[in-house]
Amino acid sequence: MRNLMTFACPFRRKYPLPSQKDDLFFMSMAYNEAITAWEEEEVPIGAVIVREQEVIASAHNLAETRKEATAHAEILAMAQASRFLGDWRLNESILYVTKEPCPMCAGAAILSRVGEIVFGFSDEKMGCLGGKLALHQLLTWNHHPRVRFGIMSEECYELVRVFFEKRRKKDDNISNTTMTH
Ligand SMILES: [Zn+2]
Repeated sequence: MRNLMTFACPFRRKYPLPSQKDDLFFMSMAYNEAITAWEEEEVPIGAVIVREQEVIASAHNLAETRKEATAHAEILAMAQASRFLGDWRLNESILYVTKEPCPMCAGAAILSRVGEIVFGFSDEKMGCLGGKLALHQLLTWNHHPRVRFGIMSEECYELVRVFFEKRRKKDDNISNTTMTH
């Protein structure tokens, strides 16, 4: 069963000017997806896929909702993009994601031949685009996406950090209550 009580997201969505379709604009879209994840009690990570300056896919982490370890924002966004394009190859697409992709998502992005990956904050534990490993640099693999990072990294990181902080506090409260009654 899901946790008994929820904790509200203290962060607000961002609305950058649509006339400036730059990294900040698209990462804001991914950030807003991450906030939606929080509102659904999911770890707040979001992703969008952009092709020719248009968002063609937009998703957030749904692992808890779907009870699927593979339901990460990037995987769901790549599936949407492939359906939209009618092709599993995403060479001309850019994946924006709030956190450095894990082994599964980095691997899937490379296999999908995503042209470029832009992420918010680095993940030294699980990140596979330079944080812990650099799968995109493996010379034996025949696709090497461009990788950039650091766009809105602080905001994207704060979202996840505060989420876990609040969840820990809530879990502590629940266990304290259980112990005293
Ligand atoms: Zn992942």
